Amino acid sequence: MLREEFINAKRIVIKLGTNVLRNSEGEVAISRIYSFIEDMAKLVKQGKEVILVTSGAVGLGKKKLNLESTAEDGVKQACAAVGQSRLMSFYENGFGIYDVPIAQILLTEDDFSLRYRYLSLRTTLNKILEFGVVPIINQNDTVSTIEMNPMMSGMKVCFADNDKLSALVASELDADLLILLSDINGLYTANPKVDKNAELIKEVDCVTDEIMSLGTDASEGGRGGMRTKLEAAKLVTRFGGKVLIANGKIPFVINKIFEGEDIGTMFLPTSENLPDKKRWIGYATNIIGGLVVNEGAKKAILEQCSSLLPIGILNVVNDFNRGEVVSIMDENNIEFARGMVNYNSQECRRIVGSHSNNIEKILGYKNYDAVITRDNITGLLLSLIHISEPTRQEAIS
Ligand code: GLU
Repeated sequence: MLREEFINAKRIVIKLGTNVLRNSEGEVAISRIYSFIEDMAKLVKQGKEVILVTSGAVGLGKKKLNLESTAEDGVKQACAAVGQSRLMSFYENGFGIYDVPIAQILLTEDDFSLRYRYLSLRTTLNKILEFGVVPIINQNDTVSTIEMNPMMSGMKVCFADNDKLSALVASELDADLLILLSDINGLYTANPKVDKNAELIKEVDCVTDEIMSLGTDASEGGRGGMRTKLEAAKLVTRFGGKVLIANGKIPFVINKIFEGEDIGTMFLPTSENLPDKKRWIGYATNIIGGLVVNEGAKKAILEQCSSLLPIGILNVVNDFNRGEVVSIMDENNIEFARGMVNYNSQECRRIVGSHSNNIEKILGYKNYDAVITRDNITGLLLSLIHISEPTRQEAIS
């Protein structure tokens, strides 16, 4: 696929990392921010829909308060509150010059993990775009409790950084393209800081486990790293979107991307085109409970897209309610799928290993034969999914 394809993208999510919004002294990189704004305003004038996901609030607040560290409880939250308004003042001024209206949206995990909030957010964002406004999104660090609440330890959260947040937004809005701009050129065959033979990978056609293994941890100042960018790419490409990871320090990089310049690493859509509900089940919600299943059930789920019956379940992990999404794990406790349960954890514990015909005898009632119905299961292993899950087209025909 040629880079020129980007030119046709209509709905674009652009994520700016902390490190491209400040210079090497840790001060605001004013000229760079304004060049991003100039490029984005140009896209809007061309009739494209631009959604900006911006980091930088914590960093700007920390600078403003002259703090050395944000480690102490509540400090990061306080910095975010101070920095967010500074951040928005740049965007308000910059987009104002081009007469492009903007809207601030601050989000927490619950805005995705609770499906009614997820759906309502989608309606609002679509309305904002319809008005020709650029939504400017950041994680609402001031009220986000995910890093502070001990009750949540062990929970798989839907996002804890802006890379994953931008992917969830792109997925929710069916965006054509997600551009992740940070201070790295793209994905390399090895860590370029350590290995001088490392080469930039220009194109990735499937974010397999092998590709995921090239991911490194967070860079200084930001919360994301290559690993979170690859997770973002995995999600977006599974619903038919494209992703580009590129260096935001290249002058006027957004403009160059839309002129078809060969910049960064491009991730191509998979053939799956995961429907919205399966995307939400697989990626957008927080997970606390789990079901350990036997090899037969794992095979049936991954290779035949089967429902999960009680007979295939070996163990129930943690407590969950009916209608919640849980991890589906194999005998080695490796998560390979997620699904929305028809029975709560207590009911599951009672029917584990039983034939579906016996559910009514055991519980005194039976709502479903399956603990998780096939339409409510999303596989997470891409290499297998590639050959096993039918594409949307096949599923319809
Ligand atoms: N929300 C954070 C901020 O505005 C950044 C999170 C991230 O870097 O992923 O500073």
